Amino acid sequence: SGIAEAAPAPAPAAPPAADRGTPHDGKVQRLLDRMTVEEKLGQLQQLAWSWDTGPGGGETKDVEDAARAGRLGSVLSIFGAKSSNALQRIAVEESRLGIPLLFGLDVIHGFWTTFPIPLAQAASFDPDVTRADGEVSAQEARSNGVHWTFAPMMDVTHEPRWGRIAEGCGEDPYLTAAFAAAKVEGYQGPGKGELGAKDRVAACAKHFVAYGGAEGGRDYNTVDVSESRLRNLYLPPFKAALDAGAATVMASFNTIGGVPAHGNSHTLTGILKKEWGFDGVVVSDWTGVQELIAHGFAEDGAAAARLSLNAGVDMEMVSTNLREHGKKLLRAGKISERRLDDAVARILRLKFTLGLFDDPYVDEDAAVDGPTAATRKAARSSAARSMVLLKNTGGALPLKPAVKSIAVVGPFGDSDDLLGTWVVPAAAKKYPSVKVLDAVRRAAPDAKVTYARGVDPEGKDTGGIPAAVAAAKAADVTIVVVGEPPSMSGEAAARSDIGLPGAQERLVEAVARSGKPFVVVLVGGRPLTMGGWLESAPAVLEAWHPGVEAGNAIADVLFGKVNPGGKLPVSFPRTVGQIPIHYNHESTGRPYNADNKYTSKYLDLPPDPQFPFGHGLSYTTFEIGAPKLSRAGVPVRALRDGDTLEVSVTVSNTGRRKGDEVVQLYVHDVAASITQPVRKLRGFKRVTLGAGRSTVVRFRLGADDLGFWTNDTHGEFLVEEGKFDLYVGNSSTAKNKVTLTVT
Ligand code: BGC
Repeated sequence: SGIAEAAPAPAPAAPPAADRGTPHDGKVQRLLDRMTVEEKLGQLQQLAWSWDTGPGGGETKDVEDAARAGRLGSVLSIFGAKSSNALQRIAVEESRLGIPLLFGLDVIHGFWTTFPIPLAQAASFDPDVTRADGEVSAQEARSNGVHWTFAPMMDVTHEPRWGRIAEGCGEDPYLTAAFAAAKVEGYQGPGKGELGAKDRVAACAKHFVAYGGAEGGRDYNTVDVSESRLRNLYLPPFKAALDAGAATVMASFNTIGGVPAHGNSHTLTGILKKEWGFDGVVVSDWTGVQELIAHGFAEDGAAAARLSLNAGVDMEMVSTNLREHGKKLLRAGKISERRLDDAVARILRLKFTLGLFDDPYVDEDAAVDGPTAATRKAARSSAARSMVLLKNTGGALPLKPAVKSIAVVGPFGDSDDLLGTWVVPAAAKKYPSVKVLDAVRRAAPDAKVTYARGVDPEGKDTGGIPAAVAAAKAADVTIVVVGEPPSMSGEAAARSDIGLPGAQERLVEAVARSGKPFVVVLVGGRPLTMGGWLESAPAVLEAWHPGVEAGNAIADVLFGKVNPGGKLPVSFPRTVGQIPIHYNHESTGRPYNADNKYTSKYLDLPPDPQFPFGHGLSYTTFEIGAPKLSRAGVPVRALRDGDTLEVSVTVSNTGRRKGDEVVQLYVHDVAASITQPVRKLRGFKRVTLGAGRSTVVRFRLGADDLGFWTNDTHGEFLVEEGKFDLYVGNSSTAKNKVTLTVT
């Protein structure tokens, strides 16, 4: 049958393919040669540790038995130096070959020190924010026995109804790619070389691919995309993450043109492994292999195992189809030993790279047990840098230092639950978020600060509104803190209505009617639509779910200790009926025109969103000049050979205080063989400028920025001749432009 069970093989002369890309001198191959089929299939199995039962009970016993039998490669959702060491000891000391286990956990925006949610981080337009999260998370997690995080998530989406928009970087592939690469570097260090270090974790680029395209924003839903959209919109962040060294990739729950991502050989093998040469591990998502049956793609577990392994999945998370059916499938020639060995080698290589064969344990005395002053400081500044000042009229913000009385109003004003979705459960329990109310009291020690909840986050009861209005009437200024609780975004948390939940809108309207000054702080994991209250609110600050230092960071911005400089990484629609609405749409043959009935528009709404991509105000003002090109034209051949141009622009702080501006560069290919987005972000830089100061910001443009992927399934990237309009400004509606001619 060709199935070797512990069959010895002669030692190869040069490092064999199994050791490709590692300094392991044939160690992977030698280990493979000693493994039985069961042990090989075991490496492909990942099981979940049971949070609740603890060592010795329930599911945990299955995990331990599998580890002992050498029928387990990885465990997810385990952490803690003691428990991970105890389980590791079983694998290393009691299994036949002593292969260490790989421990994975969803460390999405912090382990102990919860940073702002990823969507918020993207709003900083500062990749160093996400790099800092990655570094702190890696230190805290690795010291607690975690080798691998299922992050960063890089699913571009045009769907604010989709709850998982909170986990990614919004609607733009260029911004998402920059953040994905920075996060990978934060977790792994520069390149995979540092993965053996005790303060690094392996990253996982997820979810591969097009998961953000879920129809209607309903989680897990169908996706049907053209090859060009797949390659121009969804794939670039993955390529960037892999170029930054991401060690693993996770398959996504959706179908792509009818083929589930877990059984999709075009994306997993054709593009990822062959075209891009990815030699790391592809892990399934939670029971994603098994779900090929529910998709109507596999008839039974054996078919699910065969289809997913052959398509390119290397490790099965939670379901056990490969472990159960692998041997029979091999005997029947339905899967090959070559493919099985390839999958095992990928997993073993990662274990060698992580240094697990040298030292599989963590030092129980050195486990980090909570945030430090330094990590809290990093989380606080990241959160403040992530906030976006959506609206500010009449100098409503920052709050005046002389203010004598402040009312804090709204269900999130005294909430310690602003960490966001996907938090390590023990961290949520031990290190909840700082309350806005407490932080406001500290920031304004001489002011009288009162609190009135008004309404519950999701409740319909308006009985508390009069007390909130009374508090507003009695105060010089009111801070209204409203939005979504973390449970309303994240996985399986799609909403059909993305307005303020419950009776919160009524609360804001009532405070507005009090006639006293007030500002609104929005919390949440997605763009929210704003009703009529937006008009009456003098100022609106988007704070997202800011993490462990939530209240402090919000107070820093409200009182002007930090001048806000974040920008929207996603368009905010006026109403749900506008969705999908995103800045990087293609034009139609009848582009929007207010005077012509027969153009692309709704009868009952303006064509633009409430707030566009890239929008965000400051407490100072900036002027961005006309962009200049280093050359007005460039031959297409020169671009293809790597030639680049420079676009430069002067940005000046024309106001009276120091502040940050994000200078943004957008490209529009005027005529192309495939219709291009009306604008594509191709450069951004966040600069800090003192009052009255100016600086010149320079961007480099090359073939990557000017070209596009065609519908060719083998991957054709074209840079075409013609005119390119280059817009520079402080949002996606930037007006200043210069035209480049590619000849
Ligand atoms: C999610 C993944 C996550 C995995 C493990 C799945 O439900 O889609 O993003 O990494 O669970 O917890």
